[in-house]
Formats: sequence, C-alpha cells, structure tokens
Amino acid sequence: MKNQDEIVVIGGGVIGISTAYYLKKQNLAVTLLEKNTICSGASHGNAGLISCENFIPMAAPGAVKQGLRWLADADSPFSIKPRLDLDLLRWLIQFGAACRKKPMLKTLSVLKRMKEVGSGLFDELMSSHHIECDHDRKGRLVLYKDSAHFEEGIETARFLQEYGINSQILDKTAVREKEPNLTSAVVGGIYYSEYVHVTPDRFVHSLARLVEEQGGILKTKTEVIGFETKGQRISKVITTRGDLYPDQVVLAAGAWSPIVGRDLGLKIPIQPAKGYSITVKRPDSCPGFSLDLADDKVAVTPMGDRLRFSSTLELNGYDLSINRRRIAATRRAVSSYLSGMEDLDLIEIWSGLRPNTPDTLPLIGRSKSFDNLILATGHDMLGMTHSLITGKIVSQIIMNETPVIDLAPFRPERFD
Ligand SMILES: Cc1cc2nc3c(=O)[nH]c(=O)nc-3n(C[C@H](O)[C@H](O)[C@H](O)COP(=O)(O)OP(=O)(O)OC[C@H]3O[C@@H](n4cnc5c(N)ncnc54)[C@H](O)[C@@H]3O)c2cc1C
Repeated sequence: MKNQDEIVVIGGGVIGISTAYYLKKQNLAVTLLEKNTICSGASHGNAGLISCENFIPMAAPGAVKQGLRWLADADSPFSIKPRLDLDLLRWLIQFGAACRKKPMLKTLSVLKRMKEVGSGLFDELMSSHHIECDHDRKGRLVLYKDSAHFEEGIETARFLQEYGINSQILDKTAVREKEPNLTSAVVGGIYYSEYVHVTPDRFVHSLARLVEEQGGILKTKTEVIGFETKGQRISKVITTRGDLYPDQVVLAAGAWSPIVGRDLGLKIPIQPAKGYSITVKRPDSCPGFSLDLADDKVAVTPMGDRLRFSSTLELNGYDLSINRRRIAATRRAVSSYLSGMEDLDLIEIWSGLRPNTPDTLPLIGRSKSFDNLILATGHDMLGMTHSLITGKIVSQIIMNETPVIDLAPFRPERFD
C-alpha cells in the first residue's frame, strides 16, 4: 500500500510524540512507528524535569576526572563496562574534547537559549490544551551533605547568575525551614525557583492522545527493520508490519537511533547511557519540592500520588539489566538526606537508556546523506526538557520556516 506525501516518525518516546504533535499542528499527514508501546523507552521512567535551570552540561571541566574516580567505586553513580568498542572509544575522546572550558561555555549558551524557548512552548501547550501530567512549578532544592561540595554548588549558582539564573543559598537552618524533613547530615542547600516537573509517561500519553485526535496515526508494535533508497532519498521504510513510502522520514528512536541508522550507512554518535529509577507510593514524609541529592547524584521527584528516585549513568551498551547493588546504593543515599524514607511501598524499579551525544547537545537537522531524512535524536539527560523545542524545530525544517533557534549547534554531522 502506498502512503505518498506522508511523514513517517520513527520512535514513540517524548521526542517522536512531540514531533508528531507539531507536525499535526501544521496539518501534515503523520504516521509514527513504535516497536513497542508509546513511551516504553527512556521517556517512561525518568525524573520528569521539563524545565531545568542548572543547565551546566554533563560534558564540563572536571567531568573526566570525577568519572575516573567513580569508576573505582562499585556503589558510585557512574560505570563503564570494560570492552573493546571503537564507537565507545571515539565517543569518549569526543566527550573529553567537549569537556574543555571553551566548548562547554558555547554549549551552555545554547542550553540557556533552549530552556528559554522550551519554557515558552511548555506554557503555550499547557494553556491551550488539557494535559494531565501532574505538572508542578515549585522549583528544585539542591541538597548537600559535604561542605566542600556545597561550596562548589554555591560557586556554580553564582556562575549561573551571570546567565540570568537566580537562586537562594540556604544554610543549615534555612534549608530546614524550606524542607523540614531532612536528616542531620544535610549541611545546606540551593533553591532554584523555576524548575518545572511532570509525570513523564502521563505527559507523553496526553500528547499522544492529542496527536491521534488531530488525525495522526500511531502504529505500535511496529519495528522499522530497514530502508530502501533511490539516490539521495529514502524511498521505502520497511517495518515488521508492512512497508511505507514516505515523503519525509524523522528518526527519533532515542538510544536505538544508531542501530536504525546503520541500514542507511549512517554512523550516529550516540551511546546508550543506562539510568535507573525507583518509584514508590507517595509517603506522608514526601518532600515538597523536586530535590537533587547532589553528593550522590540522585534526583527525587514527587509525581502526583507517587515519589520517584532516579540515578546512575552506566555506559554498558544496550544492556537494560538492573544492578541491585546500585539500586540499594540509591536507596541508602535517599535515606541519608531525608527522614521517613524506609519501608516505602514500591511501585516500580526501572531502567532506561538515555541517548547520549559526546557534547550533551541533541542531533537535530536534515541528514547530509539523504534529502528526506531529518534526525531528531541524542537528547542525552534532557530529552523531556528539549522535547517541545525539538518537535517545533522539526516541523519548521519540514515547512521551510525560519527555526525558533539557530540550528548550527545541532548539526547531525558535527562529529564527522
Ligand atoms: C534515569 C533517567 C532520568 C532522566 N531524567 C530526565 C529529566 O528529569 N529531564 C529530562 O529532560 N530528561 C531526563 N532524562 C533523559 C530523557 O529520559 C531522554 O533524553 C528522553 O526520554 C529521550 O527521548 P526519546 O524519545 O529520544 O527516546 P525514547 O524515549 O527512548 O524513545 C525512543 C523510542 O524509539 C523506539 N524504537 C527504537 N528502535 C525502533 C525501531 N527500529 N522501530 C520503531 N521504534 C523504535 C523505542 O522503542 C522507544 O520507544 C532521564 C533519563 C534517565 C534514564
């Protein structure tokens, strides 16, 4: 069956669904293909922060040194499975280069601009539709047990002030006035007032419903297994449930994008970076804000009637197995900052693969190899935060409109 003039989006995570939403807003014919169910990848169990004020990228000065220190500790929030993998080696070298001060500052400015545009798009979405996603604008409290880390956090907060981000430094007493439920180990905190969070799967499913209401087709259990090309164009998308003949293809398959792109001869510089979350029934002792347990790199997010703890970054390839030792370390970390976090009612222990690029920025734009292929992938630790801006940009590329943001930093081939 021929579906001429249709746009095919590959991937039903927050990026694919946001893209489909903006394409439908432009009244374009959209079919989205998802190999599992909608929101079954990284977008399902993440920490839900959709507007982040501390936009220091992961690739920043000191990251390599800290990473090496963590590698020696099996309970730390970071690991790499030792293996001979040339793609990983290349990625690590490019990551190291992106950690230098000059490229990091460039990335920081891009992330700041993305936050500004993205926050506006989120407000616009929330005011124009009924999106049920437990969204919460109370801000975020960063907590410290280690005084030296607290000092570093204060330095970061002062540095971010130069970028227009205001925060409140809270000493031992003031931090308890803000969040009374802390253990005696907490020495201070920093409050950022403009963080917004949501329950990620509710957010994605609400957007997916809007896409369907507007006539978009969401095909689940439909895996893209290859392509046919004619010259510089993709002529056919081959799936486990039949072939499609799209006019344009958007690749939004998250951490799996390099695998999907392989059949097209593309080398997409993304490493799957596994993270975990533990979701429990909201306890009486639930914190009032989303928290960053800074010394242990654990995010704590109240989500409606639930509470979620997210942590860890493992560069272990596509292995989704759950390391119980790291789950136990996360639970211990939570109890070391917050009282009343024992004997919680577990809902889900989850693992997911972030699609990490070497410089933290996503890959968004037309492929130079295929005229009708657009990449919208590699959203790293910030796929929720950058979902709407990505969808908007892709729709503007397809409509030949001037994009809301300069696309140069997102060029998919910038690492070639
Ligand atoms: C522990 C953790 C905490 C996080 N916290 C935050 C946060 O607080 N804020 C934030 O902004 N970001 C956060 N992130 C990052 C965020 O989750 C990701 O950047 C984002 O979900 C990526 O979205 P995606 O749509 O690109 O990928 P995914 O959600 O993984 O979606 C990709 C989809 O493509 C599908 N697919 C793959 N191959 C094929 C194929 N061949 N055919 C069809 N479909 C295919 C997959 O099944 C999947 O559903 C966190 C991530 C983790 C792991």
